[in-house]
Amino acid sequence: MPHVAFIGLGRMGHGMAGRYLDAGFSVAVWNRSRAKAEDLIMRGARWASSPADAAIDADAVVTMVADDEASRAVWLGTDGAAMTMKAGTLAIECSTVSYQHAREMGRELNGRGLIYVDCPVTGLPDAAAGGKLTLLVGADAADLEKARPFLEPIGSTIRHFGAVGSGTVYKLINNLMGAIQIAGIAEGLAIAEQAGLDMKLVLEAVETGVAASPQVIRHSKRMVARNFAGATFTSALRHKDAAYAVALAESLLAEKPLMGRAAVDVYARAKAVAPDDDEAKMIEIVSRPKG
Ligand code: NAP
Repeated sequence: MPHVAFIGLGRMGHGMAGRYLDAGFSVAVWNRSRAKAEDLIMRGARWASSPADAAIDADAVVTMVADDEASRAVWLGTDGAAMTMKAGTLAIECSTVSYQHAREMGRELNGRGLIYVDCPVTGLPDAAAGGKLTLLVGADAADLEKARPFLEPIGSTIRHFGAVGSGTVYKLINNLMGAIQIAGIAEGLAIAEQAGLDMKLVLEAVETGVAASPQVIRHSKRMVARNFAGATFTSALRHKDAAYAVALAESLLAEKPLMGRAAVDVYARAKAVAPDDDEAKMIEIVSRPKG
């Protein structure tokens, strides 16, 4: 029975860890706050006292935490997973981190004889719980083959972009384009509201017109209804991803990433108001009428 250590049981990680239990893996779990692990423990997971404890005897360690800082802590902190992982163990990073961080972790962990797989994901928490994520992989082809049995329980699609860091490049551009679109949807709808248009008609038109996209379909009705219940992706996470993407853009492009920077600025405002609320609350930031 393969042994997996799963670190980070937030909205995404909780469902992903459950997939390994469903697939019959032996699973050790760790989360900064234990309460999120209770039902997984009831289902047979071993509670570990630290990432290092979780990683003892693991064939693969999978992390799904918030950002660079959290990722560094769970891999390389004093009780980090790398402290106990045996040479040749897979280190699968599913968190969305910066490009620089993914490359650094690759170097650090490979230098310790571990196999680092850059594996951010797309898909919402329901896809995570259903094993239907798209996995955006950056790894040597041979390392991907070693990791594949540990990726199949959590993902329905694997896209291999190239070497370590390339999965993160794609994830960051994907989420930057999303940030720009969501802010754009909010701004367009806010203008229509303030101009007094029939918003039922606007929604019907926007969802079926040329500006429609999965983001429009996902967010526009909820924005108009100001229905932000059940946050799936928060303003803080969207801001983090856009900021990481803009840093990458600034390292590669001669022109300043104007739209990206605008998205970072407006999500910084949303994060300052309510970091843990749904990103669709962007409409409240941009819809203040001219006074
Ligand atoms: P979340 O619910 O906020 O969970 C964040 C996780 O990170 C929690 O387990 C949290 O622990 C842990 N964490 C935060 N800071 C930490 C630290 N300093 N040390 C150790 N652990 C720390 O976020 P999520 O939505 O599951 O997202 C997790 C990752 O997936 C993020 O990188 C996000 O960008 C990415 N992602 C999210 C979605 C989505 O739709 N939500 C989709 C694709 C990718 P506690 O429980 O103790 O706070």
